[in-house]
Amino acid sequence: MDPTTGSGNNIDMKALYEAVLDSLHDGVYMVDRGRRIIFWNATAERLSGYAADRVLGQRCADGLLEHCNAEGMRLCGSHCPLTAVMRDGKSTQAHVFMRHADGHRVPVHVRGVPVFDRHGGIIGALELFSDDTDRTNAMQRLESLEREALIDDLTGLANRRYYNRVIEARLAEFRRYGDMMSLMMIDIDHFKKFNDTYGHDTGDKVLQLVARTLSHACRSHDTVTRWGGEEFAVVSDHAEPDQIVSVAERFRSLVEASVLVHEGHELRVTISIGVAFMCSDDDAETLAARADRALYMSKARGRNCVTALDESHQPLRAAS
Ligand code: GH3
Ligand code: MG
Ligand code: MG
Repeated sequence: MDPTTGSGNNIDMKALYEAVLDSLHDGVYMVDRGRRIIFWNATAERLSGYAADRVLGQRCADGLLEHCNAEGMRLCGSHCPLTAVMRDGKSTQAHVFMRHADGHRVPVHVRGVPVFDRHGGIIGALELFSDDTDRTNAMQRLESLEREALIDDLTGLANRRYYNRVIEARLAEFRRYGDMMSLMMIDIDHFKKFNDTYGHDTGDKVLQLVARTLSHACRSHDTVTRWGGEEFAVVSDHAEPDQIVSVAERFRSLVEASVLVHEGHELRVTISIGVAFMCSDDDAETLAARADRALYMSKARGRNCVTALDESHQPLRAAS
């Protein structure tokens, strides 16, 4: 009996295989060694938007599905999963994004399977792909939950938890590569009095005003975070001490020049800033303690000023 025709019992085996393949939940296509598409099932038509007659005979690399990874890197050239399957004779799987005929990207889980002839030679590869939207949405939900856990609700700045992550990462880079980094502690002056005079809600608006001013005034190398209460911490990397003192001075003068209009009045606050630069035997605590000490010195000097301390706690330069 011919297994492909099933002529022994009048079953058209080719039609049977196609019916089975078309009823799968997975999109299935097969390519020959030149990556030319020689089979394309009904689910592949539905998931990709391409009818079989549009793709059969085409090379899958020729601007059809254009698989890319989550970072947008195209896989159809040297990273084609099916090329690897045909080279190594081993199955692979990956989460990628396929380009739909309408142009948008569809998340798919793909499995590549080698196809052998009866002598064990590789004659092509099958790709099975399924819609990965649920998984992608679940991952996005997780990412957004994680983002929420790292953002301060009131100001929209990164929170203390995020600060802890950043400082540990910068410390590791400093130890490994000696990359310069500094920490700025910022505290609103006489904020309790402000709250007592204008109320907590107006105090909240001032916190938002200061947060916005700081985040608009920072450079791409600065991470502005809400340390807690009316205090902010800015982690800066790749900058000379003089540059950081200038950035701190810019923060100070821009906050001083910001106003909150409240019941027809212009309300203003000032900030005091302490700056410390990472030294070789620092850890997160000693660096923060030195920045805090510098901040305390700014308060003692009359507030609304910047103090930067070197590693032996000596003022590097006292601005304003
Ligand atoms: P100094 O110049 O010495 O820093 O004086 P200060 O009054 O700013 O410092 P103090 O630590 O005495 O007071 C800080 C105030 O910040 C007290 C607290 O009620 C207020 N505060 C902390 N978090 C918030 C907040 O989320 N919203 C509002 N409105 N106020 C807050
Ligand atoms: Mg404070
Ligand atoms: Mg304060």
